[in-house]
Amino acid sequence: MHVNVGTVHPYPGSSLFEYCLNKGKIPDKLAYYNSIDQVCYNMTSLPDEEFSRLMSHITATVNSCAVPMAVTVASRQDTAAFSGETVHNGNRKPWELWFVCPHCSERVYARELLGEEEMAHNCASFVTGCPVCHLRSVVRVIPSVT
Ligand SMILES: [Zn+2]
Repeated sequence: MHVNVGTVHPYPGSSLFEYCLNKGKIPDKLAYYNSIDQVCYNMTSLPDEEFSRLMSHITATVNSCAVPMAVTVASRQDTAAFSGETVHNGNRKPWELWFVCPHCSERVYARELLGEEEMAHNCASFVTGCPVCHLRSVVRVIPSVT
């Protein structure tokens, strides 16, 4: 099991988005759209200062438990994937990836859907568990051909 900690974002069309509009948490739709991925909304009844203090504490705690990072030793786009998988996932395509587990040093195979833009800019990564030792790591993807 993998657990990721993050903030909830009220996306348009969701009941959470409507709640935030009604409560004035999102005062301006245009400003919201212009900063959709840059603002952390306080949707609690806590004062903003307390919410920020708690979020900083949570982030620091999570970062102190950071998982080790691995880098792929080989990667290739899965061109044999069925067409529905390559067409219906937006800009995300299936990749076959190999990396060395930073915990047990076993060579591990993984298959992930990765964004084309992230791959083009060499900044794709994913969190996974090792099938051998079952420990978690973050894997940074380096495009290559096996
Ligand atoms: Zn391992």
